[in-house]
Amino acid sequence: MRRVCAVFGGSRGIGRAVAQLLAQKGYRLAVVARSLEAAGAAAGALGGDHLAFSCDVAKEHEVQSTFEDIEKNLGRVNFLVNAAGINRDSLLVRTETEDMISQLHTNLLGSMLTCKAAVKSMIQQQRGSIVNVGSVIGLKGNSGQTVYSASKGGLVGFSRALAKEVARKKIRVNVVAPGFVHTEMTKDLKEEHLKKSIPLGRFGEPADVAQAVVFLLESPYVTGHVLVVDGGLQLVM
Ligand code: NAP
Repeated sequence: MRRVCAVFGGSRGIGRAVAQLLAQKGYRLAVVARSLEAAGAAAGALGGDHLAFSCDVAKEHEVQSTFEDIEKNLGRVNFLVNAAGINRDSLLVRTETEDMISQLHTNLLGSMLTCKAAVKSMIQQQRGSIVNVGSVIGLKGNSGQTVYSASKGGLVGFSRALAKEVARKKIRVNVVAPGFVHTEMTKDLKEEHLKKSIPLGRFGEPADVAQAVVFLLESPYVTGHVLVVDGGLQLVM
């Protein structure tokens, strides 16, 4: 049976690198982002019969209809990667409620909604594998990132609880927690300064994280795990 994977946030950065690696391994991919144009460009660049979908993960009706579209066009989803995410970094006292809500809705609620839709289908198939992209900041915390940390820490609790809930249905749920990775999200950071604190001495590349995501997607006896991919950053945080 062909392996079908929905990659939310697959239009660029980490999600795109995951989609590229999975395409090389023969998966059929649904590349999902809010921008259909960007998702379409990413899916097209993969070659083959991969498809792009537009969806805001923070909107339940869009997530539901997107899953219906994916399954109609690509077949049953048996793999899910949640790499859609945003950050609105600022000190808590300066953070607008609107920015709190958008981070929690995209990073945490969004993954809950996509997992709910995927798990319904996976239960019927009695198989499935999910990887949620968290962050080392969700484990360690960081000044200026309180709400982002909460969204990513919450994702760990959610993923571990879901892993327990669905294990008997042969569905696995894991988390990859990256450190600093070269993507749009980190383009304004002071890399020269920050990389001094990373034991491996460099930012990660999206492909570094993709390798870990695919490892967890395919590891048949691993569930409820958080795999940190940060060049050793958490050792010194
Ligand atoms: P990125 O390059 O900014 O890509 C984010 C992706 O998510 C894009 O495809 C974007 O497409 C999509 N997205 C954003 N909001 C969405 C929404 N509401 N609904 C659907 N799709 C949405 O970011 P990245 O660095 O690859 O980040 C990927 C994940 O890794 C995020 O969860 C991030 O928090 C996490 N992470 C990143 C780093 C890092 O250093 N880069 C470190 C730790 C964790 P649209 O804008 O078109 O929707």
